[in-house]
Amino acid sequence: MAVLIQFCGGAKTVTGSMHFVATGHSKVTLDFGLFQGRRDEYYKVNSQFPFSPESLNACILSHAHIDHSGNIPTLIKKGFRGSIYCTPTTREFCRYMLPDSGYIQEEDIRYVNKINKRRGLPSRQPLYTKKEAQKSLKYFETVDYHNSFPISKDITLTFYEAGHILGSTVPVLDIKTGRTNTRIAYAVDLGRRDMPLLRNPEVPEDVDYLIIESTYGGREHEDIKDAELELAKTINKTIRRGGKVIIPSFALERTQFIVFFISELMKRKKIRKIPIYVDGPLAVNLTEVVRNNSQYFDDTTKKAFLEDVDPLGYDNITYIKDVNESKKLNDITRPVIIISASGMCENGRILHHLKNNIENPGNTIVVIGFMAKHTLGRRIVEKNKIVRIFGRPYDMNAEVVVINAFSSHADKFGLVDYCERFKRRPKKIFIVHGEPEQAEELRKNLRRHLNIKPHVPAKEETVYLRTR
Ligand SMILES: [Zn+2]
Ligand SMILES: [Zn+2]
Repeated sequence: MAVLIQFCGGAKTVTGSMHFVATGHSKVTLDFGLFQGRRDEYYKVNSQFPFSPESLNACILSHAHIDHSGNIPTLIKKGFRGSIYCTPTTREFCRYMLPDSGYIQEEDIRYVNKINKRRGLPSRQPLYTKKEAQKSLKYFETVDYHNSFPISKDITLTFYEAGHILGSTVPVLDIKTGRTNTRIAYAVDLGRRDMPLLRNPEVPEDVDYLIIESTYGGREHEDIKDAELELAKTINKTIRRGGKVIIPSFALERTQFIVFFISELMKRKKIRKIPIYVDGPLAVNLTEVVRNNSQYFDDTTKKAFLEDVDPLGYDNITYIKDVNESKKLNDITRPVIIISASGMCENGRILHHLKNNIENPGNTIVVIGFMAKHTLGRRIVEKNKIVRIFGRPYDMNAEVVVINAFSSHADKFGLVDYCERFKRRPKKIFIVHGEPEQAEELRKNLRRHLNIKPHVPAKEETVYLRTR
């Protein structure tokens, strides 16, 4: 009896992770992420699946990032009635992230329908609403790290630490076929070793098949210490010119990470103490989840949360939920740091801050996260002279500084190192979650260093795994 895997989403691309696994007795998916891209493609890709949602037994959620969790409400809307398994922290994050995603879609469709009405075109529906996202939360079931849990007749699930964001996992499936056991590990997304805050990624034993990400399959991250210096230098330079520092940031993890770093730099007097604003209700709610789940941090950070004053609540940090408070930031003329979502500058309050600050050469936009193709964030990274925000052109006079070292993904060395740490080499490695050139680089590197032949599956490709 063979096990089937179909790489339905997040193959040869970074967004929309979703892989279908069928055994003799069960059908499950690894992740159910939202594909992010241009509007028409977005609605098409996210509403069609090559299997029927009612027939699925379970969905295993590796971590809370929206490209892994964001399409779960659609799955439920289309008839799935099984369980979604994740860690307790992931469920807490999703409690805020999924309704927020529903809200963004309702807003987007409201805008589209306004235009459609003018053009006499039919009105459209969002993928799911905020309410539908809230309803989907009751299907979440939590499993803590290292607790092996039977999720169907022939599959047992165990979560290992992925070291990527708080609550992130490398889910391992033990699939029973007669007397044989087949182990599949899913390292998507995978973090970095020896990073501040998070625990190191764990390498499970006796893995037969490994599915691994390749976001930075061919790239090397700068050292985190150099990144800290660069961040301090950039902020100090902006303060000297009297400008503002605008940091587009994913509300989840990256915001808390950068707040922690900047506060540390201020405590060590590497940066002058200026006000920091974390703007956006989602970022504020998620920071609260982080505080409540501090037991999952590495030992040093765990201790800091227990003993220190709150590492995310230094006295010059203001967390803003209220939209009127957010608008008041426009009137500030002295140097401040504004951190706001969305991370790729596609929606959210960051658009208002960019619109108000991008034309002033005294200001700096600090890019600390991955910017996918066709996003405003990518156009900022590429330093386009003119960018469009809310449909209007703006001159990009502000300085742009890109610091990749804060990435929560392993780089090309980290990915190869992770594969080398398996005591018994997996029979086959599948490379997903990367743009084609990055996936190809990782394939070549693994081939060179481990003398194996990894495979980069195409989207919707099906493979059959031998179980004996
Ligand atoms: Zn992720
Ligand atoms: Zn991802």
